[in-house]
Amino acid sequence: MICSLLFDLDNTLYSEATGLENGVAQRINLFIADFFGLSISEAIRVRREHAKAYGTTLEWLMRDYGFQEPEEYFRAIHPEDEADCLNPDMVLKLILNNIPLPKAVLTNAPMDHAIRILDKLGISECFSGIYDIWFNKLVGKPHPGSYLGVLEASGFTLEHTLFIDDLPRYVKGYIDIGGLAVLKDEMDRFSDLPFRRLKTIYELDQILDQLNSSYI
Ligand SMILES: [Mg+2]
Repeated sequence: MICSLLFDLDNTLYSEATGLENGVAQRINLFIADFFGLSISEAIRVRREHAKAYGTTLEWLMRDYGFQEPEEYFRAIHPEDEADCLNPDMVLKLILNNIPLPKAVLTNAPMDHAIRILDKLGISECFSGIYDIWFNKLVGKPHPGSYLGVLEASGFTLEHTLFIDDLPRYVKGYIDIGGLAVLKDEMDRFSDLPFRRLKTIYELDQILDQLNSSYI
């Protein structure tokens, strides 16, 4: 029985077609290019090659290069106008409100970004908790402690909490600690991976029906 829901934020609670997360990725690449004095294409290559060993690009910079200015990094990649492309999503709000389970957000982004996005979508009040990268002391998904700390803080149990994220390695991280997770795979990129998938968050109630009936 699923008794609570834990959501990723970016590209999970809104469509990647908004371009929002793509904008964040471009600003991260620009930051890396400046940091190392590289061209953008070189920065993309270096980041792709080295940051994947870490939960986030920031974690890579801090661990491998002693970078100590996470606030500066977040200001650079999350400008105040970053969510101008989002509109209120009343359909999603209705879907979330019709699912009578407690819900929380677990993001590897900082809190002001999370609040900005949720406010823009008009769904802030749907969640009992928002857990950002500072809550996890800058060591976020897919580290086991990030999920476990949030479950404990929200009063959710691993056994009865469904986690939804658009990145396979974050979904895998939750499954690896014994949880049940669903991959939001909007563009069918990961049909070869062994995860339960949904195309849009609007399918959430159907997934819950399937999961709950499989418990019986
Ligand atoms: Mg995401």
